[in-house]
Amino acid sequence: MVERLRGDVAIVGAGVAGLYSAAILGSMGWRVILVESKSGSEIGNKVCGDAIGVHHFKELNLEVPPSVIDHEYSGVVVYAHSLKHSVIVPGEGVSVNRLKFGQWLLKQALDLGVKLLDRHSLLDVRVGERGVESIRAREVGGRVVEIEAKAFIDASGAKPAIRSKVPLEWPVSERPYTTDFNLAYREVVELSKPVEWLDVNYAAIILDTRVAPGGYWWVFPKSKDGLIVNTGLGVVWSSGNNPRLNYEKYVKQVFQGRVLHAGGGLVPTRRPLPTLVWRNLVVIGDAAYTVNPVHGGGIGSSMLSAAIASKHLNSALESGVVDENSLWQVNVDYMRAYGAKQARLDVLRMYMQKLSNEDYEWIIRNKIVSGGDVYELGTRGDLAERVVHSLSSLIKLLGRPSLLNELRVVRSYMKRISELYTEQYPQTPRELKAWISRVESLIEEYARQIGYERGEIVKW
Ligand SMILES: Cc1cc2nc3c(=O)[nH]c(=O)nc-3n(C[C@H](O)[C@H](O)[C@H](O)COP(=O)(O)OP(=O)(O)OC[C@H]3O[C@@H](n4cnc5c(N)ncnc54)[C@H](O)[C@@H]3O)c2cc1C
Repeated sequence: MVERLRGDVAIVGAGVAGLYSAAILGSMGWRVILVESKSGSEIGNKVCGDAIGVHHFKELNLEVPPSVIDHEYSGVVVYAHSLKHSVIVPGEGVSVNRLKFGQWLLKQALDLGVKLLDRHSLLDVRVGERGVESIRAREVGGRVVEIEAKAFIDASGAKPAIRSKVPLEWPVSERPYTTDFNLAYREVVELSKPVEWLDVNYAAIILDTRVAPGGYWWVFPKSKDGLIVNTGLGVVWSSGNNPRLNYEKYVKQVFQGRVLHAGGGLVPTRRPLPTLVWRNLVVIGDAAYTVNPVHGGGIGSSMLSAAIASKHLNSALESGVVDENSLWQVNVDYMRAYGAKQARLDVLRMYMQKLSNEDYEWIIRNKIVSGGDVYELGTRGDLAERVVHSLSSLIKLLGRPSLLNELRVVRSYMKRISELYTEQYPQTPRELKAWISRVESLIEEYARQIGYERGEIVKW
């Protein structure tokens, strides 16, 4: 027999996005049902690099207790593949303990009355006139629950559970390309001895296209003595590489010791979904592609999308009308706050995936970009004026005029896509279809210009 439940909002996925949204909506008095396939005690246990810039917590006004922080960083060191040349990007960061962080968010949500259905996986979605009418989830062991709600939130991560089951005419159902993702594998290791070149005060990123084609490999210290590290790599899905095999082949020998946790995952490294809302469905976090396309960080931005979506969903629920019109401000606010930057960085990411080890070595050795430039890129998503203009004579002098031309092209497309995601972003859902065509044509044109193959469309 199917058990029935009714709430105001049903959320699928208790990752950081779903948990944060559940807590916010719970604090506003809505009856929230949170569906999660993991068991309650495993919530938070996400395969991740665990690194996050402290500015994300500040922007969210989130006071994170020290108990959920494993280690602190003064910045990131970006190395060329030889490890001989590097650039230091300053900026306060931390290594979070993902399990404790998740459990901390979960406790807040539960204390606010959120009903958790853990060990329940989404089965199917019933769509009607109004939008999503109900969802069904199956508990491990067999019980099926049908949940009706006024609004549904898909917070189920990079392989979206709800939005992959709604009609294809809904723009939230957009299917991505294999080049839109990194496949990543990482281990948390207790080392037998510290790694000599590793400074424990910095998260280290190594640009090596042999080890991590279309991504990078990383080592993020998790303890002051440098003996516990989170290390792994990501490869662009379309490369055909298996990140675990590359890890075993190239990285594992550097980090000998006891493996405390190992696992893989999918990272969306692209611009956000064209719309995070349709009918009474809201999509947040990785399910809406809110990750930074260049460095793959998504903890902060998935929570940002949750905060923006929850705020406007609250107003829509209060008004009694939940649809793409009453929720449209979710898009406008998200694109302004983060989505436009993602779109700019997506353009840069496509170009970066075409660079070789020699290119990276040359750029870093000759200090074509400084730590400040990279920081600015990370925070504003802009190719610094200095890189393209002030350094033009240096780049020419050093014999790489083609690089300068390429950077000019990249910069001009970053500017054009930025305009599409800011002042030209549709003010109403009616204009969305035409806008999507413009974005698609721009991306196609850019891909042709830089000789970028977009891969295959993912079918899920
Ligand atoms: C290897 C790796 C390294 C990363 N490193 C970093 C990093 O260092 N810093 C950073 O900021 N970000 C990093 N990220 C990205 C970051 O982890 C994500 O952006 C972020 O956790 C997304 O949160 P989310 O809540 O949207 O999704 P998730 O955390 O993926 O949560 C989705 C939840 O939905 C549940 N779910 C899925 N399907 C169903 C279903 N059918 N039914 C019920 N429940 C379901 C899942 O069990 C999961 O709990 C990394 C990602 C990976 C894979």
